[in-house]
Amino acid sequence: MDKLIDSGKAKDFRRLIERSERIVLTCHVRPDGDAIGSTLGFWHLVRTLGKEASVIVPDKAPANLSFLPGFKEIGVYTCHPQYCEKMFAEADLVICCDFNTPSRQDNLAPLMLASPAVKVLVDHHQEPDTFTDLSFSYPDMSSTCELVFRLIAAMGLYEDVNLDCATSLLTGIITDTRNFAVNCKHPDLYDILMRLLGKGVDKERIVKEALTTRSLSSLKLEAYAISEKLEVFHRHKAALITLSRGELDRFNYERGDTEGLVNRPLEVKGLVYSIFMREDPDCIKVSARSCDGFPVSEICKDLYAGGGHIQAAGGEFHGTLEQCRALLLENMDKYDKYLKAPKE
Ligand code: 5GP
Ligand code: MN
Repeated sequence: MDKLIDSGKAKDFRRLIERSERIVLTCHVRPDGDAIGSTLGFWHLVRTLGKEASVIVPDKAPANLSFLPGFKEIGVYTCHPQYCEKMFAEADLVICCDFNTPSRQDNLAPLMLASPAVKVLVDHHQEPDTFTDLSFSYPDMSSTCELVFRLIAAMGLYEDVNLDCATSLLTGIITDTRNFAVNCKHPDLYDILMRLLGKGVDKERIVKEALTTRSLSSLKLEAYAISEKLEVFHRHKAALITLSRGELDRFNYERGDTEGLVNRPLEVKGLVYSIFMREDPDCIKVSARSCDGFPVSEICKDLYAGGGHIQAAGGEFHGTLEQCRALLLENMDKYDKYLKAPKE
């Protein structure tokens, strides 16, 4: 299973871990299950190896991940900037998980870049930037957590995976594959699942906590968004949902409450891509999902200074929600070329 990882590079990484005393694990802004799962997974592993380690994230993680062991220990830059600065300044190894370019860390990026530590990238996004000393970039993998598991195996550290590490890693695999519904074609993934279950992981609990538990107001917000705010552009096989600050406030929006909303329009037969625009305090956050290989990443890259994966991407827009929507509508024609002709 660890054949995909270059064994020489894996050995280098193991040596780096072994000779480091203070390790920082870090990830992208608005962290999701894969970002938190991969950093916490590594955190549990290196602590088992006797290292001092900290997980430092740009901003708060959603509450649905708070069941994860170690969640309370996470250093959040927007809440505890001095602590985070100290951790980066004192680190001798920084492991960058689940992002491909420093800008994905927002205000935390300068700290990460300025750290004197050796840096290693562990990620599954396309076209990574070169800002680390060592890089493990595998865009074909389901999740960064899958990659972390494979790396641990390739480094010969599988025996050091404890229940907390395994729980963290399976959480990222489950959230990024939506419980093995998307990006889960590779048979190895099921081997990894078996091995994590073998460590005693409670998969049902992860699915319940990370994917299917929500507040009443978030359920109502989703129902409102779908019944009142869903626009369908049949000619483009596209769907769009926009939510303004006022609408979010009406449903007492909290971080994570719209997780999964962008997927819902794709349940409609014939729709190929779905875009969701949310008016956040600092920008309009754009999320995009697709099927049939339609590259929503191109839309996010071209229009919203973003990127991601072919069928799951995102970006940001600085301007009004209406301008953000208009930009998409003006440009939709351009992306029709990626729609496959219907089968005879
Ligand atoms: P989500 O829609 O869940 O926020 O993000 C879906 C995917 O797109 C994730 O893999 C994420 O890394 C990527 N993504 C989301 N927002 C951005 C962004 O602003 N810039 C880039 N480059 N990628 C993003
Ligand atoms: Mn991911």
